[in-house]
Amino acid sequence: SKIRERQIKKTKTVCTYCGVGCSFEIWTKGREILKVEPKPEAPANGISTCVKGKFGWDYVNSPDRLTRPLIRKNNRFVEATWDEALDLIAERFSDIRARYGPDALAFIASSKCTNEEAYLMQKLARAVIGTNNVDNCSRYCQSPATEGLFRTVGYGGDSGSISDIAQADLVIIIGSNTAESHPVLATRVKRAQKLHGQKLIVADLRKHEMAERADLFLRPEPGTDHVWLSAVTKYIIDRGWADRAFIEARVEGFDEYVRSLEPFTLAYAEKVTGIPQADLIRVAESIHAARSTCILWAMGVTQQCGGSDTSTAISNLLLVTGNYGRPGTGAYPLRGHNNVQGTSDFGAMPMYFPGYEKVTDDEVRQRYEAAWGVKLPAHPGLDNHQMVDAIHAGKLKAMYIIGEDMSLVDANANYVQAAFEKLEFMVVQDLFFSKTAQFADVVLPASPSLEKEGTFTNTERRIQRLYRALEPLGESKPDWEIIMAIANRLGAEWTYRHPSEIMAEAASLAPLFAGVTYERLEGFRSLQWPVAPDGTDSPRLYEKEFPFPGGKARLVPVAWIPPEPAEPVYDLHVNNGRLLEHFHEGNMTYRSSGLAHKVPEAFLEVSPELAKERGIETGALVRLISPYGSVKVRVLVTDRVRGRELYLPMNDAGEAAINYLTSSKTDRVTNTPAYKDVKVRMEVIEPR
Ligand code: SF4
Repeated sequence: SKIRERQIKKTKTVCTYCGVGCSFEIWTKGREILKVEPKPEAPANGISTCVKGKFGWDYVNSPDRLTRPLIRKNNRFVEATWDEALDLIAERFSDIRARYGPDALAFIASSKCTNEEAYLMQKLARAVIGTNNVDNCSRYCQSPATEGLFRTVGYGGDSGSISDIAQADLVIIIGSNTAESHPVLATRVKRAQKLHGQKLIVADLRKHEMAERADLFLRPEPGTDHVWLSAVTKYIIDRGWADRAFIEARVEGFDEYVRSLEPFTLAYAEKVTGIPQADLIRVAESIHAARSTCILWAMGVTQQCGGSDTSTAISNLLLVTGNYGRPGTGAYPLRGHNNVQGTSDFGAMPMYFPGYEKVTDDEVRQRYEAAWGVKLPAHPGLDNHQMVDAIHAGKLKAMYIIGEDMSLVDANANYVQAAFEKLEFMVVQDLFFSKTAQFADVVLPASPSLEKEGTFTNTERRIQRLYRALEPLGESKPDWEIIMAIANRLGAEWTYRHPSEIMAEAASLAPLFAGVTYERLEGFRSLQWPVAPDGTDSPRLYEKEFPFPGGKARLVPVAWIPPEPAEPVYDLHVNNGRLLEHFHEGNMTYRSSGLAHKVPEAFLEVSPELAKERGIETGALVRLISPYGSVKVRVLVTDRVRGRELYLPMNDAGEAAINYLTSSKTDRVTNTPAYKDVKVRMEVIEPR
């Protein structure tokens, strides 16, 4: 009826479950969520969503939501007023800064939160505390991809749009379980295969859905993508298939790069990667035959000790074949969290101000000093990996962590948790009492996306607005309001009344966002950075030039360093990643009934061969043991994995949490944990 219709509120929002950035209207009545309605005008997804976007919202009304601040007293958490909590935080932060200096504090922004909240978090760290110790979880996933792109083409983001992926002649997916991790983007590839015969090549350890759909499926040995990519590039050059006109006009460093490829013969690549030479030739031929090639990649590439170098090798291959700056071409590191792109873009990183301008650059720093009216630190801060080491070394004393269950999602969880025990003071701000909250001194109740306004930036650098559908539950508050309250208790005089004012400040300071305004983002409108002052945005980068002096891209030689071998007793390799139905440690999705019902707990995929060898069946209970810890998990026997490969989804916050197995090894350049480099042994607890 009309009366009922009038009581229903329809609010435009953006999904919080992956970097595709699906937007839609959410229908609510009071606090009840009635439905999610995708709209054709949604720029990234049109009328599509996946199961998480459609059914993953119950958590906002979970009885587990934090609704009041909590303070630890005599080792128990007691409810407190906001005044008590904020006073305590200001007193302890000031005291620790006075005793040990500003670099004894560190700040973790959340990639689930908005751009405006990331901006305020880095401003709090830099302008109010006086440290560059601020980071976010892009360090756990895509920093190596960003590094590979910075080195070669200049911008740390997808070089085109999802529509480019859809119109490519050839799509190559490396180390990405796209159908489960970026479902709506995967449907664009599936549709393009059907509609215009797009070709698909997939390289992965595991035969996931996209691998099954591929024209060619490559199964390299773990951590060896660099080698087959370089061998394919060399083969293309040797056959005279490089795009000489493009290289001549737009790329530097070709001759030196060609020399660096010498070791990467097909025979060598076959030996190292296990991929037959005939398949490598097919990859080269497919790229040569295609008018346009896109390469998509994710954690299978980046979460390795050589993640930055492999990402560089990907970009080198695209440059050699002229696959930048045209429709259907480009490099697409698929961003995981809904706003992992934006949280980095807006400066929650230890070496960058918003828009990737270096904190060590005097001119840039002076611009921020003038705007903020303070002197700023000139040395880069600690990244989140270094923060954990600095706690163990007694140098870092206090942390403020927003929306990140860092004690479970950082690698080598036992080591991280031991560090958190040592902190003098810790503030955790979240929706739920997470594992990390257990280590805190103050826990602050935050509001989820449906209860606040702001912007997210998706994997295509697309900035989109979200509007408030629900009032904050209980005494919870939007993160930006909490950060501002803490800053002001510490003596700042911030007066933001709405996130649009925060964006206006960021846009006035960071040239990358010069033309971003809330008016230009109204409703389903969006902008892809860089955005010129007149509001012109950039759906496709590098059409005319690369953002380096002289405008040319750079071919960057990268040497191959093999993964370290494990002790023979650790005879199994654990691959890990996502499930369609769950998001990370599952704090939100296990509290959404439809999703929890469908997949109630994590499971370990075991190959039929290994199951036979160990005498186990689906449903068996096993313990996996690495040098760093152990997990207990039920088994699913499946031929998606082969031989001594295992697959453990990362979506568990209990006894099967993957990071009890991972080490503190990292990518050599960016310190991204080598989450995919895990060797274990298996003990059978119950065989069936
Ligand atoms: Fe959300 Fe990603 Fe699914 Fe879209 S594809 S609905 S952004 S989880």
